[in-house]
Amino acid sequence: MTVFVCVCVCVCVCVCSLNSRVTMDAAEFRRRGKEMVDFVADYLENIEHRRVYPDVEPGYLRSMIPSEAPLEPESYEDVLKDVDRVIMPGITHWQSPHFHAYFPSASSYPALLADMLCGGLGCIGFTWAASPACTELETVMLDWLGKMLQLPEDFLAGTKGQGGGVIQGTASEATLMALLAARCKAKTITLNLWSSPLPQAHSSVERAGLIGGVGIRMVATDEHFSVRAETLEKMVAEDKAAGFIPFFFCATLGTTPSCAFDKITELGPLCNAENIWMHIDAAYAGSSFICPEFRPLLDGVEFADSFNFNPHKWLLVNFDCSAMWVKKRTDLIGAFKLDPHWGIPLGRRFRSLKLWFVFRMYGQSGLQAYIRKHVELAKVFETMVKKDKRFEICAEVVLGLVCFRLKGSDELNEALLKEMTHLGRIHLVPCKLRGRFVLRFAVCGRTTELRHVQEAWTHITELSSEQTLPMSGTLLMQKSSVTQDLIIYIRPSC
Ligand code: PLP
Repeated sequence: MTVFVCVCVCVCVCVCSLNSRVTMDAAEFRRRGKEMVDFVADYLENIEHRRVYPDVEPGYLRSMIPSEAPLEPESYEDVLKDVDRVIMPGITHWQSPHFHAYFPSASSYPALLADMLCGGLGCIGFTWAASPACTELETVMLDWLGKMLQLPEDFLAGTKGQGGGVIQGTASEATLMALLAARCKAKTITLNLWSSPLPQAHSSVERAGLIGGVGIRMVATDEHFSVRAETLEKMVAEDKAAGFIPFFFCATLGTTPSCAFDKITELGPLCNAENIWMHIDAAYAGSSFICPEFRPLLDGVEFADSFNFNPHKWLLVNFDCSAMWVKKRTDLIGAFKLDPHWGIPLGRRFRSLKLWFVFRMYGQSGLQAYIRKHVELAKVFETMVKKDKRFEICAEVVLGLVCFRLKGSDELNEALLKEMTHLGRIHLVPCKLRGRFVLRFAVCGRTTELRHVQEAWTHITELSSEQTLPMSGTLLMQKSSVTQDLIIYIRPSC
């Protein structure tokens, strides 16, 4: 009997201590949640005072945390302390107004709150019945967004057409979806795929081809880095003569290296005539098409079978939210056999909440103003570059990206970028254009103002002065500071 009581007490103690140490009840969640909101708000409000690019070596984190997960529960305070100690030193601050690398990663308070709600609801919308609001809001939001872009009615679900929109996680997934749908439609395995050449098309296009198990050909671009119909036409003829079946062309509007635009008004009719599925990847540039003055860049979309862009890049919607439309939804559904799937994953988050919150709280006018401001800031930067005779502009500045370089050797420009990265005050990544090492200045931050752009330029020009910048040598970029998406430029000496 005594033993029995002891065991009971022991079990009770264990269970109680487990409860008090592990469980975060609603009361504590309220408290911690408010603290976390404060933490995030403080972080974002003060972000510009942080070094934008972290000063850590590859592998820095492993030695800072245990090699195995804890057997016993730990306190929330301890976890939070380690966020400061372990995580923050290794963060590249993408939301900083000093961040000018890659393309933007959108963020806004309404989207953050919607994301929190999405996590709280925790529903998985794989069918209408699995969560009706999730399925229905997504369809309506993609129609709202499609109308903001003035997409042809064929692409919208709430019309008599056969099209519709779906939120994918990323543009890479959207390209793969389009490719698989096109392949399924072509119903053959002797296939060929076209896209603009690396590094102009995004690497995800080549990856889609590899995953889809089809042949890939790169199409040469003209002097403006645009694919032209004439070039594609010749290749189609060659390949058909060689017994291949051309079935898919991925056009890019706003290429990753230089934000160039393929000529879809001439490529579209060609693809339609040749029965080639034309997918348009406008991952970054797509957001700008909500402004009437940039909408002509999308002219020709009426010839496309599918179109995709990332609100999570430039439309103030936090990652992940990639909007994809197809002209004929049965093509997409058919590729995955199981109605009603529009993508690879079965489970889907309630991502349309983010769109809904952002659209309503910014309004179309607020979103347009945001895009315009970024483009204006890029123009200011371009003007400053043009005024300095030591520099040159390397591609037309259409939206929020400026490609520029110091006149002179690649080594000189590599050294400049290396020094920038080393100092960590601003963050840029390079690309290769016409075989030259080029610097990309992208306006990214929600809070980037004129003064940040001016400060960035002052910093760049100071570093470029002969006194501070090594003029020769074999300085190489750290691999981690170069976007692998943009370039293939590792020199033979590596
Ligand atoms: N396509 C283009 C033109 C891009 O610039 C990018 C990324 O920058 C992508 C595709 C890949 O986007 P995601 O990360 O959503 O797959």
